[in-house]
Amino acid sequence: MAESILELRNVTKTFGDFVAVDSVDFALQAGEIHAILGENGAGKSTLMNLIYGLYQPSKGRIYVTDRENWRHRLRAKSPRDAIASGIGMVHQHFMLVENLTVAENIALSLGQLRLGTVGDTSTNGNYKKWLGKFRFKKEEAVRITEELSERFGLAVDPTALVRTLSVGLKQRVEILKALAVDARILILDEPTAVLSPQEVEGFFTILRKLQADGRAIIFISHKMKEVLDISDRITVLRRGKKVYLGKTGELTARELAREMIGEEISEVERSDSSILESDPPDNVLQLSNLTVLGNRAEVAVSDVSMETRRGEIIGIAGVDGNGQRELAEAIMGLRHNASGTISILGANPKGINAVRHRSVGYIPEDRQTTGVIAAFSVTENLVLNVTHLENIAQWNILNQKKKRETAENLIADYDIRPPNPDIPASALSGGNQQKIVIAREISLQPDLLIAVNPTRGLDVNAARYVHENLLAQREKKKSVLLISTELDEVLLLSDRLYVMSRGKLIEATAQRNNIEALGLLMTGF
Ligand code: ADP
Ligand code: MG
Repeated sequence: MAESILELRNVTKTFGDFVAVDSVDFALQAGEIHAILGENGAGKSTLMNLIYGLYQPSKGRIYVTDRENWRHRLRAKSPRDAIASGIGMVHQHFMLVENLTVAENIALSLGQLRLGTVGDTSTNGNYKKWLGKFRFKKEEAVRITEELSERFGLAVDPTALVRTLSVGLKQRVEILKALAVDARILILDEPTAVLSPQEVEGFFTILRKLQADGRAIIFISHKMKEVLDISDRITVLRRGKKVYLGKTGELTARELAREMIGEEISEVERSDSSILESDPPDNVLQLSNLTVLGNRAEVAVSDVSMETRRGEIIGIAGVDGNGQRELAEAIMGLRHNASGTISILGANPKGINAVRHRSVGYIPEDRQTTGVIAAFSVTENLVLNVTHLENIAQWNILNQKKKRETAENLIADYDIRPPNPDIPASALSGGNQQKIVIAREISLQPDLLIAVNPTRGLDVNAARYVHENLLAQREKKKSVLLISTELDEVLLLSDRLYVMSRGKLIEATAQRNNIEALGLLMTGF
Protein backbone atom coordinates (compact mmCIF):
# COMPACT_ATOMS: atom_id res chain seq x y z
CA MET A 1 0.00 0.00 0.00
CA ALA A 2 1.23 3.47 -0.88
CA GLU A 3 2.44 5.68 1.90
CA SER A 4 0.05 8.17 3.42
CA ILE A 5 0.95 11.84 3.15
CA LEU A 6 -1.82 13.05 5.41
CA GLU A 7 -3.15 11.19 8.36
CA LEU A 8 -5.86 11.99 10.89
CA ARG A 9 -5.91 9.95 14.04
CA ASN A 10 -8.97 9.87 16.19
CA VAL A 11 -9.91 13.44 15.37
CA THR A 12 -12.91 14.98 17.11
CA LYS A 13 -14.39 18.44 16.80
CA THR A 14 -17.12 19.71 19.06
CA PHE A 15 -19.07 22.95 18.94
CA GLY A 16 -20.45 23.47 22.41
CA ASP A 17 -21.83 20.04 23.22
CA PHE A 18 -22.48 19.19 19.58
CA VAL A 19 -20.05 16.67 18.10
CA ALA A 20 -19.56 17.62 14.45
CA VAL A 21 -16.62 15.26 13.83
CA ASP A 22 -16.46 12.16 15.97
CA SER A 23 -13.21 10.18 16.44
CA VAL A 24 -12.37 10.07 12.74
CA ASP A 25 -9.37 8.21 11.32
CA PHE A 26 -8.44 9.15 7.79
CA ALA A 27 -5.38 8.60 5.62
CA LEU A 28 -4.66 10.17 2.27
CA GLN A 29 -2.18 8.35 0.04
CA ALA A 30 0.26 10.08 -2.27
CA GLY A 31 -1.25 10.56 -5.73
CA GLU A 32 -4.75 9.33 -4.97
CA ILE A 33 -8.13 10.94 -5.48
CA HIS A 34 -9.97 10.22 -2.28
CA ALA A 35 -13.69 11.00 -2.23
CA ILE A 36 -15.56 11.95 0.91
CA LEU A 37 -19.25 11.22 0.78
CA GLY A 38 -21.84 12.23 3.31
CA GLU A 39 -25.22 13.81 3.80
CA ASN A 40 -25.60 17.47 4.61
CA GLY A 41 -24.34 18.07 8.09
CA ALA A 42 -22.31 14.84 8.10
CA GLY A 43 -19.22 16.84 9.03
CA LYS A 44 -17.36 16.88 5.70
CA SER A 45 -16.61 20.60 5.62
CA THR A 46 -15.75 20.64 9.31
CA LEU A 47 -13.28 17.79 8.81
CA MET A 48 -11.64 19.64 5.93
CA ASN A 49 -11.55 22.90 7.88
CA LEU A 50 -9.65 21.03 10.59
CA ILE A 51 -7.03 19.93 8.08
CA TYR A 52 -6.82 23.42 6.59
CA GLY A 53 -6.31 25.10 9.96
CA LEU A 54 -9.60 26.99 10.05
CA TYR A 55 -10.56 24.94 13.10
CA GLN A 56 -8.40 23.15 15.62
CA PRO A 57 -9.33 19.61 16.68
CA SER A 58 -10.90 19.21 20.11
CA LYS A 59 -9.17 15.83 20.28
CA GLY A 60 -6.88 13.78 18.08
CA ARG A 61 -3.86 14.42 15.90
CA ILE A 62 -3.10 15.27 12.31
CA TYR A 63 0.15 14.27 10.60
CA VAL A 64 1.38 15.54 7.27
CA THR A 65 4.33 14.85 5.00
CA ASP A 66 5.48 18.16 3.59
CA ARG A 67 7.28 19.16 0.40
CA GLU A 68 10.66 18.25 1.88
CA ASN A 69 9.30 14.79 2.65
CA TRP A 70 9.30 15.56 6.32
CA ARG A 71 6.51 13.91 8.25
CA HIS A 72 5.39 15.92 11.21
CA ARG A 73 2.44 16.66 13.39
CA LEU A 74 0.34 19.42 11.89
CA ARG A 75 -0.83 21.96 14.42
CA ALA A 76 -2.27 24.46 12.00
CA LYS A 77 -3.44 27.58 13.79
CA SER A 78 -4.57 29.09 10.51
CA PRO A 79 -4.65 28.22 6.81
CA ARG A 80 -1.20 29.80 6.54
CA ASP A 81 0.28 26.89 8.49
CA ALA A 82 -1.60 24.36 6.37
CA ILE A 83 -0.47 26.08 3.16
CA ALA A 84 3.12 26.04 4.41
CA SER A 85 2.77 22.26 4.76
CA GLY A 86 1.57 21.95 1.18
CA ILE A 87 -2.17 21.82 1.76
CA GLY A 88 -4.55 23.80 -0.44
CA MET A 89 -8.31 24.06 -0.22
CA VAL A 90 -11.06 25.20 -2.55
CA HIS A 91 -14.04 26.01 -0.39
CA GLN A 92 -17.69 25.34 -1.05
CA HIS A 93 -18.09 29.10 -1.01
CA PHE A 94 -15.30 30.85 -2.80
CA MET A 95 -12.83 33.04 -0.97
CA LEU A 96 -11.90 35.44 -3.74
CA VAL A 97 -11.64 39.21 -3.70
CA GLU A 98 -14.26 40.11 -6.27
CA ASN A 99 -12.89 43.53 -7.17
CA LEU A 100 -9.39 42.31 -7.95
CA THR A 101 -8.18 40.62 -11.10
CA VAL A 102 -7.37 36.94 -11.37
CA ALA A 103 -3.63 37.62 -11.15
CA GLU A 104 -4.11 39.95 -8.17
CA ASN A 105 -5.97 37.22 -6.35
CA ILE A 106 -3.10 34.86 -7.13
CA ALA A 107 -0.68 37.49 -5.84
CA LEU A 108 -2.59 37.60 -2.58
CA SER A 109 -2.25 33.88 -2.13
CA LEU A 110 1.44 34.03 -3.00
CA GLY A 111 1.84 36.81 -0.46
CA GLN A 112 0.23 34.57 2.07
CA LEU A 113 2.97 32.04 1.55
CA ARG A 114 6.00 34.26 1.10
CA LEU A 115 5.32 37.22 3.30
CA GLY A 116 3.55 35.28 5.95
CA THR A 117 0.81 37.87 6.19
CA VAL A 118 -1.80 39.49 4.03
CA GLY A 119 -3.87 41.18 6.67
CA ASP A 120 -7.60 40.83 6.70
CA THR A 121 -8.33 40.84 3.00
CA SER A 122 -12.02 40.25 3.50
CA THR A 123 -12.80 43.57 5.11
CA ASN A 124 -10.21 46.22 4.42
CA GLY A 125 -10.55 48.12 1.21
CA ASN A 126 -6.86 48.79 0.73
CA TYR A 127 -5.92 45.82 -1.40
CA LYS A 128 -4.86 48.05 -4.25
CA LYS A 129 -2.53 50.00 -2.01
CA TRP A 130 -1.22 46.82 -0.49
CA LEU A 131 -0.65 45.27 -3.89
CA GLY A 132 1.08 48.43 -5.06
CA LYS A 133 3.83 47.72 -2.58
CA PHE A 134 4.35 44.29 -4.05
CA ARG A 135 3.93 45.02 -7.74
CA PHE A 136 6.66 42.60 -8.73
CA LYS A 137 4.72 39.85 -7.04
CA LYS A 138 1.70 40.70 -9.13
CA GLU A 139 3.66 40.45 -12.36
CA GLU A 140 5.15 37.24 -11.15
CA ALA A 141 1.61 36.13 -10.44
CA VAL A 142 0.54 36.90 -14.01
CA ARG A 143 3.38 34.76 -15.25
CA ILE A 144 2.65 31.96 -12.79
CA THR A 145 -1.03 32.14 -13.65
CA GLU A 146 -0.28 31.77 -17.34
CA GLU A 147 2.15 28.93 -16.76
CA LEU A 148 -0.17 26.96 -14.53
CA SER A 149 -3.13 27.72 -16.79
CA GLU A 150 -1.29 26.18 -19.66
CA ARG A 151 0.11 23.22 -17.80
CA PHE A 152 -3.20 22.07 -16.37
CA GLY A 153 -5.57 23.30 -19.04
CA LEU A 154 -7.14 25.80 -16.63
CA ALA A 155 -7.77 28.53 -19.17
CA VAL A 156 -8.53 31.90 -17.59
CA ASP A 157 -7.66 35.52 -18.38
CA PRO A 158 -5.21 36.74 -15.70
CA THR A 159 -6.30 40.35 -16.18
CA ALA A 160 -10.07 39.74 -15.85
CA LEU A 161 -11.81 41.11 -12.78
CA VAL A 162 -12.95 38.20 -10.65
CA ARG A 163 -16.42 39.65 -10.24
CA THR A 164 -17.03 39.40 -13.98
CA LEU A 165 -16.23 35.67 -14.06
CA SER A 166 -18.78 32.85 -14.10
CA VAL A 167 -18.89 30.48 -11.14
CA GLY A 168 -16.99 27.86 -13.11
CA LEU A 169 -14.17 30.28 -13.85
CA LYS A 170 -14.02 31.50 -10.25
CA GLN A 171 -13.49 27.92 -9.26
CA ARG A 172 -10.57 27.69 -11.67
CA VAL A 173 -9.05 30.73 -10.02
CA GLU A 174 -9.39 29.04 -6.65
CA ILE A 175 -7.61 25.97 -7.97
CA LEU A 176 -4.91 28.16 -9.52
CA LYS A 177 -4.47 29.89 -6.17
CA ALA A 178 -3.77 26.55 -4.54
CA LEU A 179 -1.41 25.49 -7.33
CA ALA A 180 0.40 28.83 -7.23
CA VAL A 181 1.52 28.08 -3.68
CA ASP A 182 2.38 24.57 -4.81
CA ALA A 183 -0.20 22.66 -2.81
CA ARG A 184 0.58 18.94 -2.87
CA ILE A 185 -2.63 18.07 -1.14
CA LEU A 186 -5.73 19.64 -2.68
CA ILE A 187 -9.01 19.70 -0.81
CA LEU A 188 -12.00 20.36 -3.05
CA ASP A 189 -15.22 20.91 -1.11
CA GLU A 190 -18.20 20.09 -3.38
CA PRO A 191 -16.44 21.45 -6.47
CA THR A 192 -18.94 20.14 -8.99
CA ALA A 193 -21.96 21.61 -7.22
CA VAL A 194 -21.42 24.86 -9.09
CA LEU A 195 -20.70 23.35 -12.50
CA SER A 196 -23.06 22.56 -15.36
CA PRO A 197 -23.09 18.96 -16.58
CA GLN A 198 -21.03 20.00 -19.58
CA GLU A 199 -18.37 21.57 -17.37
CA VAL A 200 -17.95 18.56 -15.08
CA GLU A 201 -16.20 16.47 -17.70
CA GLY A 202 -13.62 19.16 -18.35
CA PHE A 203 -13.16 19.55 -14.64
CA PHE A 204 -12.44 15.85 -14.25
CA THR A 205 -9.82 16.06 -16.97
CA ILE A 206 -8.13 18.75 -14.90
CA LEU A 207 -8.29 16.60 -11.77
CA ARG A 208 -6.65 13.72 -13.63
CA LYS A 209 -3.88 16.03 -14.80
CA LEU A 210 -3.30 17.17 -11.24
CA GLN A 211 -3.19 13.57 -10.14
CA ALA A 212 -0.75 12.65 -12.90
CA ASP A 213 1.37 15.53 -11.63
CA GLY A 214 1.68 13.70 -8.31
CA ARG A 215 -0.82 15.68 -6.28
CA ALA A 216 -3.23 14.04 -3.90
CA ILE A 217 -6.82 15.17 -3.97
CA ILE A 218 -9.62 15.04 -1.44
CA PHE A 219 -12.80 15.29 -3.47
CA ILE A 220 -16.02 16.04 -1.62
CA SER A 221 -19.26 15.41 -3.41
CA HIS A 222 -22.66 13.97 -2.83
CA LYS A 223 -23.07 12.93 -6.45
CA MET A 224 -22.55 9.22 -6.49
CA LYS A 225 -21.91 8.91 -10.20
CA GLU A 226 -19.14 11.51 -10.06
CA VAL A 227 -17.52 9.91 -7.08
CA LEU A 228 -17.55 6.53 -8.80
CA ASP A 229 -16.13 8.10 -11.98
CA ILE A 230 -13.24 10.02 -10.52
CA SER A 231 -12.09 8.58 -7.18
CA ASP A 232 -9.64 5.84 -6.24
CA ARG A 233 -10.96 5.40 -2.71
CA ILE A 234 -14.04 6.51 -0.83
CA THR A 235 -14.64 7.47 2.78
CA VAL A 236 -18.23 7.85 3.94
CA LEU A 237 -19.13 10.07 6.89
CA ARG A 238 -22.45 9.85 8.68
CA ARG A 239 -23.32 12.14 11.59
CA GLY A 240 -19.68 13.00 12.16
CA LYS A 241 -18.45 9.38 12.18
CA LYS A 242 -16.50 7.52 9.56
CA VAL A 243 -18.77 4.63 8.58
CA TYR A 244 -17.00 3.29 5.50
CA LEU A 245 -13.62 3.28 3.80
CA GLY A 246 -12.92 1.29 0.68
CA LYS A 247 -11.67 1.15 -2.88
CA THR A 248 -13.94 2.73 -5.47
CA GLY A 249 -16.07 0.08 -7.13
CA GLU A 250 -16.17 -2.17 -4.07
CA LEU A 251 -19.67 -0.92 -3.29
CA THR A 252 -22.39 0.01 -5.77
CA ALA A 253 -23.97 3.45 -5.77
CA ARG A 254 -26.94 2.09 -3.91
CA GLU A 255 -24.80 0.45 -1.26
CA LEU A 256 -22.83 3.65 -0.80
CA ALA A 257 -26.06 5.64 -0.45
CA ARG A 258 -27.13 3.26 2.26
CA GLU A 259 -23.86 3.88 4.10
CA MET A 260 -24.44 7.61 3.79
CA ILE A 261 -27.91 7.73 5.22
CA GLY A 262 -28.22 4.39 6.95
CA GLU A 263 -31.27 3.31 4.94
CA GLU A 264 -32.47 2.81 1.38
CA ILE A 265 -33.14 5.88 -0.71
CA SER A 266 -35.58 6.32 -3.54
CA GLU A 267 -36.08 9.06 -6.06
CA VAL A 268 -39.17 11.23 -6.06
CA GLU A 269 -41.88 10.24 -8.46
CA ARG A 270 -43.79 12.67 -10.57
CA SER A 271 -47.32 11.67 -11.47
CA ASP A 272 -48.10 12.34 -15.11
CA SER A 273 -51.66 13.58 -14.82
CA SER A 274 -51.75 16.31 -12.29
CA ILE A 275 -53.77 18.49 -14.63
CA LEU A 276 -57.21 17.01 -15.10
CA GLU A 277 -58.83 17.46 -18.49
CA SER A 278 -61.91 18.97 -16.87
CA ASP A 279 -59.81 21.45 -14.94
CA PRO A 280 -58.70 24.05 -17.47
CA PRO A 281 -55.28 25.44 -16.53
CA ASP A 282 -55.30 29.12 -15.62
CA ASN A 283 -52.35 31.34 -16.10
CA VAL A 284 -50.49 32.43 -13.01
CA LEU A 285 -47.48 34.22 -14.41
CA GLN A 286 -47.59 35.84 -17.82
CA LEU A 287 -44.50 37.43 -19.34
CA SER A 288 -44.85 39.43 -22.55
CA ASN A 289 -41.85 40.73 -24.47
CA LEU A 290 -39.84 41.04 -21.29
CA THR A 291 -36.40 42.57 -21.72
CA VAL A 292 -34.21 43.12 -18.67
CA LEU A 293 -30.90 44.93 -18.42
CA GLY A 294 -28.10 43.46 -16.31
CA ASN A 295 -25.70 45.15 -13.90
CA ARG A 296 -23.52 46.48 -16.69
CA ALA A 297 -26.56 47.72 -18.64
CA GLU A 298 -26.19 44.80 -21.05
CA VAL A 299 -29.31 43.03 -22.32
CA ALA A 300 -29.51 40.11 -19.90
CA VAL A 301 -33.02 38.94 -20.75
CA SER A 302 -34.10 39.44 -24.31
CA ASP A 303 -37.73 39.70 -25.41
CA VAL A 304 -39.07 36.80 -23.36
CA SER A 305 -42.72 35.75 -23.56
CA MET A 306 -44.11 32.77 -21.66
CA GLU A 307 -46.71 31.80 -19.11
CA THR A 308 -46.96 29.42 -16.18
CA ARG A 309 -50.17 27.67 -15.21
CA ARG A 310 -51.65 26.10 -12.13
CA GLY A 311 -50.60 22.52 -11.45
CA GLU A 312 -47.43 22.78 -13.53
CA ILE A 313 -43.74 22.99 -12.94
CA ILE A 314 -42.11 24.99 -15.71
CA GLY A 315 -38.42 24.19 -16.00
CA ILE A 316 -35.81 26.57 -17.36
CA ALA A 317 -32.47 24.87 -17.94
CA GLY A 318 -29.29 26.68 -18.87
CA VAL A 319 -25.66 27.26 -18.08
CA ASP A 320 -24.97 29.88 -15.42
CA GLY A 321 -24.90 33.48 -16.49
CA ASN A 322 -27.37 33.36 -19.38
CA GLY A 323 -29.90 35.73 -17.85
CA GLN A 324 -31.59 33.35 -15.43
CA ARG A 325 -30.79 35.43 -12.37
CA GLU A 326 -31.97 38.65 -14.00
CA LEU A 327 -35.18 36.96 -15.17
CA ALA A 328 -36.00 35.74 -11.66
CA GLU A 329 -35.15 39.08 -10.10
CA ALA A 330 -37.26 40.98 -12.61
CA ILE A 331 -40.28 38.76 -11.85
CA MET A 332 -39.69 39.30 -8.14
CA GLY A 333 -39.74 43.08 -8.57
CA LEU A 334 -36.06 43.40 -7.73
CA ARG A 335 -34.97 44.79 -11.09
CA HIS A 336 -36.50 47.87 -12.55
CA ASN A 337 -34.48 48.15 -15.70
CA ALA A 338 -37.03 46.18 -17.63
CA SER A 339 -39.45 46.65 -20.49
CA GLY A 340 -42.43 44.52 -21.51
CA THR A 341 -44.99 43.25 -19.03
CA ILE A 342 -44.96 40.92 -16.06
CA SER A 343 -48.41 39.92 -14.99
CA ILE A 344 -49.07 37.82 -11.90
CA LEU A 345 -52.61 36.56 -11.37
CA GLY A 346 -53.86 39.34 -13.61
CA ALA A 347 -52.10 42.24 -11.88
CA ASN A 348 -48.80 44.06 -12.52
CA PRO A 349 -47.25 44.42 -9.07
CA LYS A 350 -44.23 46.72 -8.70
CA GLY A 351 -41.51 46.05 -6.16
CA ILE A 352 -40.82 42.97 -4.09
CA ASN A 353 -43.45 43.52 -1.40
CA ALA A 354 -46.20 44.09 -3.96
CA VAL A 355 -45.06 40.94 -5.79
CA ARG A 356 -45.09 38.91 -2.58
CA HIS A 357 -48.57 40.20 -1.82
CA ARG A 358 -49.71 38.50 -5.04
CA SER A 359 -48.88 35.19 -3.32
CA VAL A 360 -45.42 34.71 -4.73
CA GLY A 361 -42.64 32.77 -3.01
CA TYR A 362 -38.97 33.00 -3.93
CA ILE A 363 -36.07 30.62 -3.45
CA PRO A 364 -33.18 32.77 -4.66
CA GLU A 365 -30.12 31.48 -6.45
CA ASP A 366 -27.66 32.45 -3.81
CA ARG A 367 -28.58 31.09 -0.43
CA GLN A 368 -25.46 32.64 1.07
CA THR A 369 -26.22 36.24 0.26
CA THR A 370 -29.93 36.52 -0.36
CA GLY A 371 -31.52 33.32 0.93
CA VAL A 372 -30.52 33.59 4.56
CA ILE A 373 -28.74 36.24 6.58
CA ALA A 374 -25.96 34.30 8.26
CA ALA A 375 -25.69 36.48 11.36
CA PHE A 376 -29.44 36.44 12.04
CA SER A 377 -30.97 33.73 14.19
CA VAL A 378 -32.84 30.81 12.68
CA THR A 379 -36.07 32.40 13.95
CA GLU A 380 -35.41 35.73 12.29
CA ASN A 381 -34.54 34.03 9.03
CA LEU A 382 -37.70 31.94 9.12
CA VAL A 383 -39.97 34.98 9.22
CA LEU A 384 -37.85 37.17 6.97
CA ASN A 385 -40.41 38.14 4.36
CA VAL A 386 -43.20 40.62 4.31
CA THR A 387 -46.03 38.10 4.45
CA HIS A 388 -44.69 36.29 7.53
CA LEU A 389 -43.92 39.58 9.23
CA GLU A 390 -47.46 40.81 8.63
CA ASN A 391 -48.87 37.56 9.95
CA ILE A 392 -47.04 37.88 13.23
CA ALA A 393 -47.44 41.62 13.68
CA GLN A 394 -50.12 43.27 15.77
CA TRP A 395 -50.67 47.00 15.52
CA ASN A 396 -47.40 47.10 13.62
CA ILE A 397 -45.50 45.55 16.49
CA LEU A 398 -44.05 42.08 16.14
CA ASN A 399 -45.66 39.68 18.51
CA GLN A 400 -42.59 37.92 19.91
CA LYS A 401 -44.54 34.93 21.16
CA LYS A 402 -46.18 34.42 17.79
CA LYS A 403 -42.84 34.86 16.05
CA ARG A 404 -41.32 32.17 18.21
CA GLU A 405 -44.26 29.84 17.72
CA THR A 406 -44.08 30.30 13.96
CA ALA A 407 -40.38 29.50 14.02
CA GLU A 408 -40.77 26.47 16.27
CA ASN A 409 -43.53 25.07 14.07
CA LEU A 410 -41.50 25.56 10.91
CA ILE A 411 -38.43 23.98 12.49
CA ALA A 412 -40.51 20.92 13.39
CA ASP A 413 -42.46 20.72 10.11
CA TYR A 414 -39.40 21.09 7.93
CA ASP A 415 -37.05 19.14 10.18
CA ILE A 416 -34.44 21.86 10.48
CA ARG A 417 -31.42 20.62 12.37
CA PRO A 418 -30.26 21.38 14.97
CA PRO A 419 -33.77 22.34 16.15
CA ASN A 420 -32.64 25.47 17.93
CA PRO A 421 -34.46 28.70 16.99
CA ASP A 422 -31.88 30.93 18.68
CA ILE A 423 -28.57 30.02 17.02
CA PRO A 424 -27.35 32.04 14.04
CA ALA A 425 -28.13 30.60 10.62
CA SER A 426 -24.37 30.46 9.98
CA ALA A 427 -24.11 27.55 12.44
CA LEU A 428 -26.29 25.36 10.19
CA SER A 429 -25.08 23.21 7.32
CA GLY A 430 -25.90 24.34 3.78
CA GLY A 431 -28.74 21.84 3.54
CA ASN A 432 -30.33 23.07 6.71
CA GLN A 433 -29.93 26.70 5.67
CA GLN A 434 -31.77 25.79 2.49
CA LYS A 435 -34.48 24.17 4.59
CA ILE A 436 -34.97 27.54 6.28
CA VAL A 437 -35.54 29.17 2.89
CA ILE A 438 -37.90 26.38 1.80
CA ALA A 439 -39.83 26.51 5.07
CA ARG A 440 -40.16 30.28 4.92
CA GLU A 441 -41.25 30.41 1.29
CA ILE A 442 -43.34 27.25 0.88
CA SER A 443 -45.19 27.31 4.21
CA LEU A 444 -47.12 30.32 2.91
CA GLN A 445 -48.46 28.16 0.05
CA PRO A 446 -47.69 30.70 -2.66
CA ASP A 447 -49.68 30.48 -5.89
CA LEU A 448 -46.45 31.10 -7.73
CA LEU A 449 -43.09 29.84 -6.55
CA ILE A 450 -39.90 30.99 -8.26
CA ALA A 451 -37.08 28.57 -7.43
CA VAL A 452 -33.58 29.26 -8.71
CA ASN A 453 -31.04 26.44 -8.33
CA PRO A 454 -32.91 25.25 -5.27
CA THR A 455 -30.67 22.21 -4.70
CA ARG A 456 -27.28 23.70 -5.51
CA GLY A 457 -24.71 22.27 -3.13
CA LEU A 458 -27.15 19.91 -1.47
CA ASP A 459 -26.68 16.17 -1.14
CA VAL A 460 -29.01 13.48 -2.50
CA ASN A 461 -31.33 13.43 0.46
CA ALA A 462 -31.66 17.16 0.94
CA ALA A 463 -32.17 17.61 -2.81
CA ARG A 464 -34.87 14.98 -2.78
CA TYR A 465 -36.55 16.83 0.05
CA VAL A 466 -36.61 20.02 -1.99
CA HIS A 467 -37.95 18.12 -5.01
CA GLU A 468 -40.77 16.66 -2.94
CA ASN A 469 -41.73 20.11 -1.79
CA LEU A 470 -41.80 21.47 -5.33
CA LEU A 471 -43.92 18.54 -6.50
CA ALA A 472 -46.29 19.04 -3.58
CA GLN A 473 -46.90 22.58 -4.81
CA ARG A 474 -47.79 21.18 -8.20
CA GLU A 475 -50.17 18.63 -6.66
CA LYS A 476 -51.88 21.48 -4.83
CA LYS A 477 -52.49 23.19 -8.17
CA LYS A 478 -49.93 25.87 -7.49
CA SER A 479 -47.56 27.08 -10.16
CA VAL A 480 -43.80 26.60 -9.96
CA LEU A 481 -41.10 28.18 -12.10
CA LEU A 482 -37.93 26.14 -11.65
CA ILE A 483 -34.78 27.76 -13.01
CA SER A 484 -31.81 25.44 -12.66
CA THR A 485 -28.40 24.67 -14.08
CA GLU A 486 -28.91 21.00 -13.17
CA LEU A 487 -30.37 19.52 -16.31
CA ASP A 488 -31.27 16.26 -14.56
CA GLU A 489 -33.35 18.15 -12.05
CA VAL A 490 -35.21 20.13 -14.68
CA LEU A 491 -35.91 16.97 -16.67
CA LEU A 492 -37.09 15.12 -13.58
CA LEU A 493 -39.53 17.75 -12.40
CA SER A 494 -40.80 19.88 -15.25
CA ASP A 495 -44.03 19.57 -17.19
CA ARG A 496 -42.84 22.01 -19.80
CA LEU A 497 -39.23 22.74 -20.48
CA TYR A 498 -37.32 25.78 -21.71
CA VAL A 499 -33.66 26.46 -22.24
CA MET A 500 -32.24 29.89 -21.55
CA SER A 501 -29.24 30.90 -23.60
CA ARG A 502 -27.79 34.40 -23.96
CA GLY A 503 -30.94 35.95 -22.60
CA LYS A 504 -33.30 34.14 -24.98
CA LEU A 505 -35.86 31.63 -23.85
CA ILE A 506 -36.29 28.65 -26.15
CA GLU A 507 -39.11 26.16 -25.67
CA ALA A 508 -37.57 22.69 -25.58
CA THR A 509 -40.30 20.39 -24.30
CA ALA A 510 -40.14 18.38 -27.53
CA GLN A 511 -36.41 17.78 -27.04
CA ARG A 512 -36.68 16.49 -23.50
CA ASN A 513 -35.49 13.02 -24.43
CA ASN A 514 -32.64 14.28 -26.53
CA ILE A 515 -29.86 15.32 -24.18
CA GLU A 516 -27.54 16.15 -27.04
CA ALA A 517 -30.01 18.58 -28.58
CA LEU A 518 -30.58 20.17 -25.17
CA GLY A 519 -26.85 20.45 -24.61
CA LEU A 520 -26.51 22.26 -27.92
CA LEU A 521 -29.32 24.66 -27.05
CA MET A 522 -27.72 25.29 -23.65
CA THR A 523 -24.39 26.11 -25.19
CA GLY A 524 -25.95 28.57 -27.59
CA PHE A 525 -26.34 26.71 -30.88
P1 ADP B 1 -21.22 18.97 5.71
O1 ADP B 1 -20.11 19.74 5.11
O2 ADP B 1 -20.99 17.49 5.72
O3 ADP B 1 -22.56 19.31 5.13
P2 ADP B 1 -20.60 20.50 8.08
O4 ADP B 1 -19.23 20.05 8.41
O5 ADP B 1 -20.76 21.80 7.43
O6 ADP B 1 -21.34 19.36 7.26
O7 ADP B 1 -21.47 20.52 9.42
C1 ADP B 1 -21.50 19.43 10.32
C2 ADP B 1 -22.37 19.80 11.50
O8 ADP B 1 -21.65 20.70 12.34
C3 ADP B 1 -23.65 20.50 11.14
O9 ADP B 1 -24.69 20.00 11.95
C4 ADP B 1 -23.39 21.94 11.43
O10 ADP B 1 -24.57 22.60 11.81
C5 ADP B 1 -22.39 21.87 12.57
N1 ADP B 1 -21.47 23.00 12.55
C6 ADP B 1 -20.58 23.31 11.58
N2 ADP B 1 -19.88 24.41 11.88
C7 ADP B 1 -20.36 24.84 13.08
C8 ADP B 1 -20.04 25.94 13.95
N3 ADP B 1 -19.09 26.82 13.63
N4 ADP B 1 -20.75 26.04 15.10
C9 ADP B 1 -21.70 25.14 15.42
N5 ADP B 1 -22.03 24.08 14.67
C10 ADP B 1 -21.38 23.92 13.51
MG1 MG C 1 -20.13 21.08 3.52
